[in-house]
Amino acid sequence: MKYDIIIVGAGTGGALAAKTTAKLGLNTLLLERKPAESVGDKVCGDAAEQRDFDQLNIALPKGDELENTIKASNLYSPDQRVCRSLSETGSAGFIINRIKFGQRLLNEARDTGLEFYDQMMVLKPKFSQGAVVGVEAKDMRTDAQKEFESNVVIDASGFHSPLRKAMTSPYIESEIEPNDYIICYREILQVGGMDWDPHCIHIFLSQEKAPGGYLWYFPESENKVNLGIGVYADPKYKVKEYYKRYCLPMAQEPIEIIHQGGGVVPVRRPLWSLVESGIMFVGDAACQVNPLHGGGIGSSMRAGIYAAETAADAIEIGDCSIDGLWAYNKRYAKDQGGNFASLDLLRIAIQRFTDDELNFGLHRGLLSNQDIMNIASGRIVRPSVLDIIGRAIRGIAKPELLLNLYFINNQINKMKDIYKAYPNRPDFERWKARVLKLYDRIRRLI
Ligand SMILES: Cc1cc2nc3c(=O)[nH]c(=O)nc-3n(C[C@H](O)[C@H](O)[C@H](O)COP(=O)(O)OP(=O)(O)OC[C@H]3O[C@@H](n4cnc5c(N)ncnc54)[C@H](O)[C@@H]3O)c2cc1C
Repeated sequence: MKYDIIIVGAGTGGALAAKTTAKLGLNTLLLERKPAESVGDKVCGDAAEQRDFDQLNIALPKGDELENTIKASNLYSPDQRVCRSLSETGSAGFIINRIKFGQRLLNEARDTGLEFYDQMMVLKPKFSQGAVVGVEAKDMRTDAQKEFESNVVIDASGFHSPLRKAMTSPYIESEIEPNDYIICYREILQVGGMDWDPHCIHIFLSQEKAPGGYLWYFPESENKVNLGIGVYADPKYKVKEYYKRYCLPMAQEPIEIIHQGGGVVPVRRPLWSLVESGIMFVGDAACQVNPLHGGGIGSSMRAGIYAAETAADAIEIGDCSIDGLWAYNKRYAKDQGGNFASLDLLRIAIQRFTDDELNFGLHRGLLSNQDIMNIASGRIVRPSVLDIIGRAIRGIAKPELLLNLYFINNQINKMKDIYKAYPNRPDFERWKARVLKLYDRIRRLI
């Protein structure tokens, strides 16, 4: 039997994609390698922004899906003396119970009547005349090999996606460079008390304590915390040792471990193209994660919906080629891709600053609360002349750092503009060259 659409992976991205295509009347098959009752069980910081739920019309987490309500996201200087808010005043978020939330999304998708096979491990795409026409899979209950065919495949199978790895397209990066992801470890701990505001999430920058990444302290209640760290994907940085040395001391005794585990987070711009003929990529498989704080729950749900809507249009007009699916690229680049690419530049810059420079820049207000918020929410940051003079005076002891910050800010603004002009069709060598030039400038500067 041939389906309209196959969705691989029933995580946050895949569940939303599947629910959307089925509701749009497409004959949908959802494949997941885990048993159904384990869907959603992912090692995660569990923080989700309310804005995503509101914008995507997803019911807010409540009851046992909701661990905690969050009023602000705080970003700290390496010495922890300066805190900048990553969220607008009044904007809120949640710490969710990942498995309960994942089960809700899966059930909502299944309630549409789509076909769902769990314990079905997708191995690779099926190609015909250069286009993806389905997938090959292994039934993990019986070890039997299976083949499924469709007009479009949506790959939402996460960072290690076997489908992306099998692509040989010039538009899709099949392998993600180690510089572009971080290795994380986190524990959920019952703790004796809390030194940090239990209704804020706390992110700590420090190249000494978390090289290439950050530490996080996300309260689930006044006595329970999701405590974790991400570092460069390089064997010389042993993530658990960093965790023990720098994270664990933040937890108040007596401590009891409720859950522990590790994972990988892509922290770069999204793939050059999120589509090829017959296939679309969503969520971690497409590197659609905020490079600054590693949040990918909201962006994967957004991408799942966008991909599903474009797939439905393409199937309706009978063009599932790269051209027919291209509208998803345009929409995502405009709404989120440009912002994530800009934050990727900032991430690369931050990774190269020393803790002293980061402390200095944040203490002296060279990067203000408003700047950080604007950058994090995708707005252009253009300081006024008075502002520039004020910062120049405050930054007088490190003029080079001040100049670097202005330069980085300019590149970030340029990246946003370039993404607004994402190509209208799969012919984008000149556009790619403009993006690469900005990366090159940032890497050469620092
Ligand atoms: C340690 C850590 C902390 C994080 N903290 C946060 C946070 O606080 N907030 C936030 O927003 N984001 C966070 N993230 C990122 C977030 O978890 C991901 O960005 C998000 O889950 C991506 O969703 P997804 O649907 O793309 O992939 P996933 O959630 O990974 O789902 C992929 C699904 O595909 C299935 N699958 C995989 N391979 C196959 C296969 N071959 N065949 C069939 N099915 C397959 C998997 O079983 C899974 O169900 C964190 C990530 C990590 C690792």
